[in-house]
Amino acid sequence: MSETNQKINLLGLSPAKMEAFFADLGEKKFRAQQMLKWIHQYGEPNFDNMTNMSKPLRARMSEICEIRLPEVVYEDFSKDGTRKWVMRVDGGSAIETVYIPEKDRGTLCVSSQIGCSLDCSFCSTGKQGFNRDLSVAEIIGQVYVAAMSFHEPGERRERKITNVVMMGMGEPLLNFDNVVDAMQLMMDDNAYGLSKRRVTLSTSGVVPMMEKLGDVIDVSLAVSLHAPNDELRNQLVPINKKYPIKELIAATNRYLNKLPDRRKATIEYTLMEGVNDELEHAEQLAEVLRDTPCKINLIPFNPFPNSGYKRPSNNRVYRFRDYLISKNFIATIRSTRGDDIDAACGQLVGRVEDRTRRSERYINAVQLDDSPRGNSV
Ligand code: SF4
Repeated sequence: MSETNQKINLLGLSPAKMEAFFADLGEKKFRAQQMLKWIHQYGEPNFDNMTNMSKPLRARMSEICEIRLPEVVYEDFSKDGTRKWVMRVDGGSAIETVYIPEKDRGTLCVSSQIGCSLDCSFCSTGKQGFNRDLSVAEIIGQVYVAAMSFHEPGERRERKITNVVMMGMGEPLLNFDNVVDAMQLMMDDNAYGLSKRRVTLSTSGVVPMMEKLGDVIDVSLAVSLHAPNDELRNQLVPINKKYPIKELIAATNRYLNKLPDRRKATIEYTLMEGVNDELEHAEQLAEVLRDTPCKINLIPFNPFPNSGYKRPSNNRVYRFRDYLISKNFIATIRSTRGDDIDAACGQLVGRVEDRTRRSERYINAVQLDDSPRGNSV
């Protein structure tokens, strides 16, 4: 999906950059809007079919640019409506994207990096290390592929995707510019037209970039907390040593205060038996979040080989949740979806049970050098 042969891949141009591109060609602003619609709403990759543009303009665009789509190497649709794709990106690595339909919404979990440098102790993505940032085209390409899977190219797409969460592989705030450009496309009416409330960035707590984020965009925020005190969080989420909980929560509150509406942060908390799921942890968590408008998403850990952590019993999970509810928090337990296709979207749906089996299956199916991995938990 990156640029080759000096051709510009229009798939990865944000609305502002698309306007600048057409301005350079001496064209008016509305051409950018037309192009965004052709690409992101109609899924039209062929300039010749863009009949509302003049023939000379189409010919010029064919010379200097392209619409290079992601290469889908594996896709699977679950009985419960969950869909999953593995896409190959430049360099031979693969990224996963998962779509999860619910009663009143369809959520897409999108990756921002290949691998991750933050090395959270319970995350298999962290264990594989960091490879590289995804380009804008590679990030928005995940949304494109999912959106287009519901219709034929050239047809105007239905809005099956109502929510996007940047909770896939990687820490989105460490790929700041590309992630912001991609989220601008998600929210642009000429592209995916998602409400800013329905585009969520999930961070493990890169505090300075949280400040910067609030200056440039007003998407919803999720914070991967996973521990209620610094001693424990230092072990689970090592970036905490740099930006401890107090700073993280203060940055979260500042971000929420910058938003033009009254929105809550989502607090992601993966429950691991005997590690962070005791009642005293729930008490500490309630104290830490006392002044933060939030809803708490509890994710029972799904073990993967050599993870070293266990999923708590349902009773322990309910006990934790009920304590938070008794303190007037909104606390929900994330259920796993798409089990029949191993639809893992780390912080979103929990970790698949047997990643080795899954990786083998993918390697056999697409002959990738590297096993594709989901994200975070
Ligand atoms: S949990 Fe998220 S931030 Fe931590 S290592 Fe995994 S992908 Fe990176």
